[in-house]
Amino acid sequence: MSFERKNIEQMSGYSYGEQPEDEGVIKLNTNENPYASSPHVQDALVNFLTKNLRRYPPALANGFRQVAADLHQVDLSNIIATRGGDELLRLLFTTFADSGETIAVTDPTYSLYPVLAKIQDAKIFSIALQADWSLSPDFAETANRAGAKMTFVVNPHAPSGKLVEADQIRRLADQLDSILLVDEAYVDFVDPGKSYGCLDLVNSHSNVIFLRSMSKGYGLAGLRFGYGIGHSSLIEPMLTKTRDSYNLDAISQELARVALLDQDYAKECWGKVRESRTNLRASLIKRGFEVPASEANFLLATVPDSGLSAETIYEGLKSRQILVRFFNVPGMNNKLRITVGTEAENTRLLSALDSVVNPST
Ligand SMILES: *Cc1c(COP(=O)(O)O)cnc(C)c1O
Repeated sequence: MSFERKNIEQMSGYSYGEQPEDEGVIKLNTNENPYASSPHVQDALVNFLTKNLRRYPPALANGFRQVAADLHQVDLSNIIATRGGDELLRLLFTTFADSGETIAVTDPTYSLYPVLAKIQDAKIFSIALQADWSLSPDFAETANRAGAKMTFVVNPHAPSGKLVEADQIRRLADQLDSILLVDEAYVDFVDPGKSYGCLDLVNSHSNVIFLRSMSKGYGLAGLRFGYGIGHSSLIEPMLTKTRDSYNLDAISQELARVALLDQDYAKECWGKVRESRTNLRASLIKRGFEVPASEANFLLATVPDSGLSAETIYEGLKSRQILVRFFNVPGMNNKLRITVGTEAENTRLLSALDSVVNPST
């Protein structure tokens, strides 16, 4: 006999990208930053005094929140700090989705959303993207008709890297009857020349919240730190009611604060990733892959029709100590999602790719 709730018994958990212990593996499968966080973060960790762990940490992470509020030019009441962006997602479900209620998402989307919906016994309503990965023109209307309580849009989109521009996000915020979560986990890698900034919506629209993560842009996936920027009426119940007491430890609050303060360093890394992204995309296209332009730190490469399957290439790369992501689901199983690495890593990827595809050379 099982003591699990019925919906828990029937669900499966999130499937992680492989996390090998072996340092020799080139890891281009989970969209981590190829560059370490700011040297100031290392200094802050070295200088952190363990006697400060005697006390509970700042409950609301106000030191971090204030830096985030200043950076994004919003009020403190518009910011919540969370244990990774993932905790923010869980708080959204706990706070706003009753069992049986509907969450509208794009198809494909971030695979954690359906897992969190199952935990909450909420329903997922998937709305197909168009062939070029853009949102369909009637996306908001479709979500409204489905009675969505929340609508989640990943921007730039994962796994394609396609950007939804600011004016379209603004229209969604106007048109949707639901909460609009814009999941900006990869926004740091967007070309600064592109139009995407619309954080001011959190002042004018009571249904809008953005997710940010320190995992990708700031090279701190191991720290588990993220935050939400939202209308104060959405932030407030999560901050004061549904959040775990002391959800963030004192060390991570300090390291995340220092990382966010060093914008110059972070921007330098984002620039390098963008440059490598351009180079890697061109090299893959030259090899016959179809690769849409990406504004994130990964590329979604469709393998050439005439050659080896995506799964075979994935396995071949893996046997050469290079991990990329292969999704064995309909519509995705002829594609590989490849995280942009350092120039050296990308060069190793390309020569391994050549030897998989053309073993005789
Ligand atoms: C990585 C990611 C997040 C948040 O990840 P955390 O490591 O928990 O901050 C959220 N959404 C998407 C689409 C992501 O890829």
